[in-house]
Amino acid sequence: MLPNLRSNEELLKEIENLSGQRIIDCYQCGECTAGCPVAFAMEPVPNQAIRLLQLGYIDEVLKSSGIWLCASCNVCGERCPRGVDYGKIADALRTINLRNNNYPLVLEKIDKEFINQAPQQAFIAAFRKLTT
Ligand code: SF4
Ligand code: SF4
Repeated sequence: MLPNLRSNEELLKEIENLSGQRIIDCYQCGECTAGCPVAFAMEPVPNQAIRLLQLGYIDEVLKSSGIWLCASCNVCGERCPRGVDYGKIADALRTINLRNNNYPLVLEKIDKEFINQAPQQAFIAAFRKLTT
């Protein structure tokens, strides 16, 4: 259960405090998703994630794979007519997960053959972003 049985209201406040964004300001125009270079692989895509947060499905977004795929490129924030930067929201969601020891990359679970072949820089970058 994520994270520690806190209420949705408290979680939403924490996401807004960490990200500096007002989630309620989003009016679902979809500009963020239209410009996101990794939206094709994200689940949920940026505007869907924000809508889920607005509706109180915070745990679903925290557990989603999409927040880990965000490349923090800031395109969504630049395109948003309401001044909402989803990249910062995704960053806050990852931070909450990491603080609760919920992270997707576990060294012991990575295939050994893959470890031998992948570039070291990829591992360093991935561990910086995906672990505590
Ligand atoms: S910051 Fe993340 S969500 Fe926003 S456009 Fe870039 S990759 Fe997509
Ligand atoms: S661009 Fe801004 S207002 Fe439009 S859906 Fe994305 S976050 Fe919401």
